[in-house]
Amino acid sequence: MEYSEAQKIIEECEKKANKEFTALNEIALENQKRVLDAFRRHKISAMHFHGTTGYGYDDVGRDTLAKLFADVFGTESAIVSPLIANGTHALSLALFGLLSRGDTIVSIAGKPYDTLDEVINGENIGSLKDIGVGYGQVDMTEEGEFDKKCIKTLLMEKKPKVVFIQRSKGYLWRDALSVEKIAEIICFVREISPFSYIVVDNCYGEFTEKKEPTHVGADVCIGSLIKNAGGGIAPTGAYICGKNECIDMIARRFTAPSLGLEVGSYLSGYLPFYQGLFLAPSTVKNALMGNVLSGYVFEKLGFETMPKPGSMPYDIIKSIRFNTAEQLVSFVQRIQKLSPVDSYVTPEPWDMPGYTHPVVMAAGTFVQGASLELSADGTVREPFVAYMQGGLTYEHCKLALTEILAEMG
Ligand SMILES: *Cc1c(COP(=O)(O)O)cnc(C)c1O
Repeated sequence: MEYSEAQKIIEECEKKANKEFTALNEIALENQKRVLDAFRRHKISAMHFHGTTGYGYDDVGRDTLAKLFADVFGTESAIVSPLIANGTHALSLALFGLLSRGDTIVSIAGKPYDTLDEVINGENIGSLKDIGVGYGQVDMTEEGEFDKKCIKTLLMEKKPKVVFIQRSKGYLWRDALSVEKIAEIICFVREISPFSYIVVDNCYGEFTEKKEPTHVGADVCIGSLIKNAGGGIAPTGAYICGKNECIDMIARRFTAPSLGLEVGSYLSGYLPFYQGLFLAPSTVKNALMGNVLSGYVFEKLGFETMPKPGSMPYDIIKSIRFNTAEQLVSFVQRIQKLSPVDSYVTPEPWDMPGYTHPVVMAAGTFVQGASLELSADGTVREPFVAYMQGGLTYEHCKLALTEILAEMG
């Protein structure tokens, strides 16, 4: 269709999204206040932004950043560091810190994110399984609910040291978990298994609601700084927030037993991490507004999406189900074309290590692979689902969706 016609439809879609937009503004305001109050309480000033060298003893920027995150996430303690390579590394650190030989981890929200498969169950690569940690899993029901009956049985049977919950939908065709739902299941788990640590993979979930899982009883929550919590500014790193007892155990693995959080320098300084956390509530809101708008746009184009139009998003991913491989690939290519970086590049489906089918990815991002920036990917096989996430600005999402509508409509 004509671009001008697409613009008109986008405006109609925006009107339909009014209720969700209002709610998202309210969420962002509350989160911004919580973050701002934490900055004021910790008396953040320019001295916190400086880098350090060598051992990094008394690195006030590093230590205060951790306190700031702990405050925002409502926990006793935190590890926040550019030295953690990515989300998978942070999750792996946390699990290896909390679990040892003879312990068990039970995932109660289905299969964890793909990159954790090998961390948990890999063979002869130093996985949790290799060091003698058991694993159990309960899938969500077809209606997308926790399967309480199975959870109860497995918890009583396995007595797990760690109960694991993934908040985001990841690559599963389900809705992300609301914090309310997480709160309810935490109460349920505590009754049956009071001595388990409840660990939440919080990737993609931060600041999508007014509370985080750690505000409603999770012992530990973990996320990447090139997703939500870095605000689109942090160049690398991850965070682990939680109870003192848990963070102490994890800190021994992060550096070395007895060194814990006393060491670790970073010459470039911490400015983008502070600034990123400050911006995160607003950047996440922009991405979520783009997510909501895209639901109405793809409905117009006749494609099914998750979350469905009219419902609130609980993470920054929009899953879109196309009918053919061509539609999927061409959608991802359009996202690339509409990116601020490498817009002239055409992504092609590609055999990636660890995947059985070719994968196509658009990542025209400032920070390599940063998915709080507008990006998309999909595996080229039925049911031809694309995962679109991010958007640093709502306007970028809107422009991209207008072009996609004009070209596909
Ligand atoms: C991104 C993500 C991870 C892994 O993070 P990486 O930074 O890509 O290693 C884990 N879990 C979920 C739900 C994620 O979205």
